[in-house]
Amino acid sequence: MSIVYDFKENIKKDDLDGISNIINSGGLVVFPTETVYGIGADATNSNAVKKIFIAKGRPQDNPLIVHISNLEMLDKYTCGINSIEKKLIDNFWPGPLTIIVKSKNNLSTYVTAGLDTVGVRMPDNDIALNIIEASKRPIAAPSANISGKPSGTNLSDIFEELNNKVDVFVDGGNTNIGIESTVVKVENGVVNILRPGKISLEDIKNIGLNVKLDKHIFKDVKDGEKVESPGMKHRHYAPSTKAILVDFDSDKIMLDKIKEYKEKNDKNIGIICYKEHEEYLKSIGFKTIVMGGKNDLLEISRNIFSLIRSIDKYKFDECLIEGVKKQYIGTAIMNRLIRACGYNIL
Ligand code: AMP
Ligand code: MG
Repeated sequence: MSIVYDFKENIKKDDLDGISNIINSGGLVVFPTETVYGIGADATNSNAVKKIFIAKGRPQDNPLIVHISNLEMLDKYTCGINSIEKKLIDNFWPGPLTIIVKSKNNLSTYVTAGLDTVGVRMPDNDIALNIIEASKRPIAAPSANISGKPSGTNLSDIFEELNNKVDVFVDGGNTNIGIESTVVKVENGVVNILRPGKISLEDIKNIGLNVKLDKHIFKDVKDGEKVESPGMKHRHYAPSTKAILVDFDSDKIMLDKIKEYKEKNDKNIGIICYKEHEEYLKSIGFKTIVMGGKNDLLEISRNIFSLIRSIDKYKFDECLIEGVKKQYIGTAIMNRLIRACGYNIL
């Protein structure tokens, strides 16, 4: 059985030493960040990094994000940053923003999946920063989950699927944001968002930078099509139950669409819905699961992966999921929901 350290109340110095010894000797540690839990290993040790791919069943062509705790590490492992990348870092680090930059080729090639670039971020979470500092290594850490499943946002969701596959779990309670970091690459003076997250298009615009969403954010990738980020190609987040996203126009249109669907389909249909819609949806025969208040996108982002993980246990024939407005973190929520629904949209 993997060891569990409880850091919910405070970071325990002796346990932290044990954790850094495990990282330094090539082991795997599940730890919290402000976004989701990560499975971490020494990013400079190929044997250690290989174990992450095995534990997750992750395709080897999907590179890992490297987590750092200070800017000296950025200098040491990357070929430097331009003025746009500096502005992003000054404004958003530590925080949920991963920047793809040229790598110096002194990290494990498994981390970069053989690319000449590397995704780097400084997490805004004391447990994560302390583990990196104590280990004195950059830590490669993809989301803690079996590949294809929703990322883990609390230990109980992921304990079973990763138990015995990692050396240590560090429990920091529920993660604050609940969806993975924004991934960006600066190209020709424009910040291209490869994966949306809490740091939104609007946030990046607000600091005076040119920014765009990559064309694959809401679109499936066709076989053989070239993508900027290998992760875009892989199947993600989907439950076994058929899930259908109700794309948002207005509340009224959304509820009408849902009612009409229910009337046409005489099945056991569940719905992940706004708190404000629960009563009405129950009254027309749905089993409801509440995602949060419709104006509280952060509450929805915190809850959404855990709720998607729970869908299968209800044994619905199908599950509808109410969409949110594609703005601020809502863009990221919709990007994950579209994938969870396998591009089925009502
Ligand atoms: P995860 O760590 O599981 O949250 O996923 C990391 C995401 O970052 C995946 O979508 C990767 O494809 C993407 N990524 C990591 N490194 C790079 C890179 N060098 N170039 C482009 N995308 C990257
Ligand atoms: Mg992941």
